Amino acid sequence: MRVKILLQITADDGAPGKVEEVMSLDKSVERAEDIGLSLAEGKALLAAAQQRIVEAQTKSWAEGRRCCEACGRRRRSKGNYPIVFHTLFGDVRLASPRFRRCPCREGNGIATVSPLVELIPDHVAPERLYLETRWASLVPYAIAAELLAEIAAGVNATTVRRHVLHVAERIEADLPKDKCSFTEEGSQDREALPIPDGRIVVGLDGGYVRDWTERKRNFEIIVGRSMPEDRPARYLGFVHGFDRRPQRRLVDMLESQGMQANQDITFLTDGGEEVRSLTEGISPCSEHVLDWFHITMRITVLGQFAKGVAQYDEETGGRLTKELERIKWKLWHGNTTGAQEVIEDFEDNLFGLESDYPNLRKFVTAAREFAAYVDSNTASLINYGERYRSGERISSAFVEATVNAVVSKRFAKKQQMQWTRRGAHFLLQTRTRALDGTLRSAFERWFPGLANDNAGRVIQREAA
Ligand SMILES: [Zn+2]
Repeated sequence: MRVKILLQITADDGAPGKVEEVMSLDKSVERAEDIGLSLAEGKALLAAAQQRIVEAQTKSWAEGRRCCEACGRRRRSKGNYPIVFHTLFGDVRLASPRFRRCPCREGNGIATVSPLVELIPDHVAPERLYLETRWASLVPYAIAAELLAEIAAGVNATTVRRHVLHVAERIEADLPKDKCSFTEEGSQDREALPIPDGRIVVGLDGGYVRDWTERKRNFEIIVGRSMPEDRPARYLGFVHGFDRRPQRRLVDMLESQGMQANQDITFLTDGGEEVRSLTEGISPCSEHVLDWFHITMRITVLGQFAKGVAQYDEETGGRLTKELERIKWKLWHGNTTGAQEVIEDFEDNLFGLESDYPNLRKFVTAAREFAAYVDSNTASLINYGERYRSGERISSAFVEATVNAVVSKRFAKKQQMQWTRRGAHFLLQTRTRALDGTLRSAFERWFPGLANDNAGRVIQREAA
């Protein structure tokens, strides 16, 4: 059978436009795949309809701005220039009209007026920009472009990348310029605040990606996850050293989660200098806690060395293992001084040890590093057991998962993907939002019409 698809656009003044044929198809009914429109047909149909609709809309919009806003005189045409408008259903080629300056505006420097510049300055439809950003935040640019090209002809990885970086710049521009902590509010103001809903736990950790400029090197990315008791969690990410004021980013995220100056906040980190300094001075009610997960990781490594020793000297190996258990037990119960004493004994025993165990020197080094690790973090050690029993978080193992979720899958160090600091930092801004679900709300803030998917405009046709 023959299918003809027609389109009619009626202007706002009610004048019906001419009926145009958008597509004509020969459809047979031999096989399952013949039924309905194919992807290619749908794509062509949408592209053809889109071209006509966008043309009509932009023409009407430009015509509405034809007259001088000062004196109302109709401006003379100065021709037009071609632009490509990227929409979700393909690229639309448009002739962007130019009007001559109105005589009443002589001498103010503007020679011509191009009305479409105001309507679509970036030549991309917000919905397409949103999908490009979301998909390219989740999968590599080339794959995102390939997927989108299934709907919209003309999508390519270079454009997608450019658009996404542009969105990231816009996100960055939205960051408040000055506010860097919650301590700025005076204590009297704090007392006036309502009682907050529970504690916010923030885990912070670092990850590495491969450097594009110095190919053999890596640079550090800091990733965080903030988990209030009564609101959805959010992600944070930035390139260490690229972001000059990372605290501002952290504070902005916490504020978006309703954080108040009188709210308890726990930062869980591995004790690294970068992440720790990030948490300092954020809030008068904040504490920095050494992540239990990272403590046990180190003890586990030492335990493996002790097992190695046991293969050469069972008794000594067994004794070292027991001492490690005591260290762990004391740290778990917040007995830092006690733990430090046992660690000292442990180091002494190890120093005096004579064994054929080939990794003995590595063992000694690891033990010394562990002692230094505990010493430099005593202020961040808590009674983990007590916290754990009261149902609070003591480990940022969830941050390990975050680093994997945010960094590894998209930044793919294993696949030798290389990054510039700027490119990685910007992609982190869209990626963290794509992952925690706040990308859409950023777009809806910029383009309020997206909030309801532009719905409610479909005029239902009564079934005849
Ligand atoms: Zn005028």
